[in-house]
Amino acid sequence: MEPTAIPEWPGGAACAVSLSFDDGMTSQLERAIPYLDRLGLRGTFYLNTPGDAWRERLEPWKAVVEKGHEAGNHTCSHLCSRGPFGREKGLETTTLNALEADILECERRLDEVLGKRARSFCYPCYDRHVGEGESRASYVPLIAKHFVAGRGKFNGLHHVNFPAACDLSCVGSHACERMGGHELLGLCERAANKGAWTVLTFHGILEGHVSVSEVDFRELCDHLARYPERFWVAPVVEVAQRIRAWRAESA
Ligand SMILES: [Zn+2]
Repeated sequence: MEPTAIPEWPGGAACAVSLSFDDGMTSQLERAIPYLDRLGLRGTFYLNTPGDAWRERLEPWKAVVEKGHEAGNHTCSHLCSRGPFGREKGLETTTLNALEADILECERRLDEVLGKRARSFCYPCYDRHVGEGESRASYVPLIAKHFVAGRGKFNGLHHVNFPAACDLSCVGSHACERMGGHELLGLCERAANKGAWTVLTFHGILEGHVSVSEVDFRELCDHLARYPERFWVAPVVEVAQRIRAWRAESA
């Protein structure tokens, strides 16, 4: 298959767009989801399940999943590279086995409260390694073993995921904090022009230090909902499953 070959997207749309949200923040429940629901758009919400209160933490997400949104795996401990934070512990001080146990425990907790289903994974802080220096190793193969897809980060604003060529265990996404509405929808229009898949990553909507404004978020959603012939808006897991099926049919 040509690396630029494009599948037929559901509804005859020109491209696929996934809206993803990290860390289970309150503004996602209070601001993002009601607006997505109003427009009939579905997103992916990557949840952590730390400590002893994980059942309580997951409780509000039951209704979200029932409405067709995806609740993805974001690990129990949200372990990131320790260097940028000056922490004692981080991905540098753990092992592949310990990280796998953490990820699978998160999966077990999500299954218990939200029901067993296929879901995608999200790399905390976009980091994808354990160890450091000569012992540093990628944990992407671990994600490939357990998940339909793993969401990472693009290196450039012009990037899209070409369905025939992208590594589904390391799907690119745009970190959207502080972007204006016109920039957000420009990223989606770029995917439509290529027939490809783009993933947008949000954290808070007017919450936290990596947020977007509600006005800009709504401008993006309005645009996506207004042009269904251009955008198939679907959770990360569903787009990845669609690409896998298309690759299998085309092989
Ligand atoms: Zn996170």
